[in-house]
Amino acid sequence: MNINLAVVKGDGIGPEIVEEGEKVLNKIGEMYGHTFTYTDILAGGCAIDATGEPLPAESVKIAKESDSVLLGAVGGPKWDTLPGHLRPERALLGLRSELGLFANVRPAKLYDALADACPLKPEISKEGLDLVIVRELIGGLYFGERGRRDAGEMGEEAFDELKYNVKEVERIGRVAFEMARKRDRKKVTSVDKANVIETSRLWRETMHKLAQEYPDVEFEDMLVDNCAMQLVRNPGQFDVIVTENMFGDILSDEASMTTGSIGMLPSSSLGETTRGMYEPIHGSAPDIAGQNKANPIATILSCAMMLRDSFNLLDEAKCIESAVAKVLDDGFRTGDIMDEGGKLLGTKEMGDKIVSYLTK
Ligand code: NAD
Repeated sequence: MNINLAVVKGDGIGPEIVEEGEKVLNKIGEMYGHTFTYTDILAGGCAIDATGEPLPAESVKIAKESDSVLLGAVGGPKWDTLPGHLRPERALLGLRSELGLFANVRPAKLYDALADACPLKPEISKEGLDLVIVRELIGGLYFGERGRRDAGEMGEEAFDELKYNVKEVERIGRVAFEMARKRDRKKVTSVDKANVIETSRLWRETMHKLAQEYPDVEFEDMLVDNCAMQLVRNPGQFDVIVTENMFGDILSDEASMTTGSIGMLPSSSLGETTRGMYEPIHGSAPDIAGQNKANPIATILSCAMMLRDSFNLLDEAKCIESAVAKVLDDGFRTGDIMDEGGKLLGTKEMGDKIVSYLTK
């Protein structure tokens, strides 16, 4: 397969971690007969410095022509005081909306070798934690009408509109059901607040109808407050969680924390086509940028997600994920996940180690 990637190296540790991702993809290409071509595009703080805007039109054009986008991280203190429309994070929102990416997918997996980093009690973490949160990304409360008005004696009033239509719920639901089909446990939990909110009632009705098209996938509903509790009480019960924008924002951070390691977690944003945007969940870590200290594993696992979800290269994705698990089992660590007896590696050395563990 010939795969053309648009690459946002971005700011801070972005360039260092993306380099390791490309190293792993190149080796996979050699092993399985694929060619990866990378076109660097400017986005974020470095784009502001070079062109005055966080997401130049040329970058959007190249991203749209690519098969997928690989992104390191954007932002940093240098650009923190700029007005909202010029902030580096605008580049992320801009890319997602220009590429029509409506689903955010965040796996949270606890590796056996890193079980001590899990903040949950050992009797809970020993049951394992390997779930994916599929969050609706471009609808709901964050995109509804909002404003302020005079509420007479009550003073100023603010409002934010929450709405979802059937089409929006169906398309995010399909992402979740299709994803569950590719996983071992094949289970979807749809999370809502249907006991109170009307949009959640429509969400629930729509998900139930959709579930009938996927008889091979186990399906359940859960109220969001219960889900927040279950994620720390018994996270092993979840496989794929699908939910609306704001609930997903909160639950995905909660789930990430239970794995205890921000440098390990990949993510993707997906749309109607196979083109997605793949990136680690962490930021640009300006405190360790340029020091060969960043953990490249979240980016490397984002590359594995890309192979599976955009190109259906399941063996290749598994090959990367197994290599990462084995490297951790053998005690190799970057500083952020270092533990007693661990063997400390820098960013480049961790990338090289994972490459050396790739086997068919
Ligand atoms: P951060 O995720 O960059 O860093 C938080 C802490 O985690 C820091 O101590 C950092 O050193 C550490 N860390 C993060 N990734 C690591 C890795 N791969 N290996 C080792 N340690 C790692 O969050 P922050 O400090 O709140 O934000 C820094 C900048 O990143 C800000 O400008 C923020 O706006 C931006 N940001 C960007 C994204 C993105 O590009 N998707 C996401 C979040 C934050």
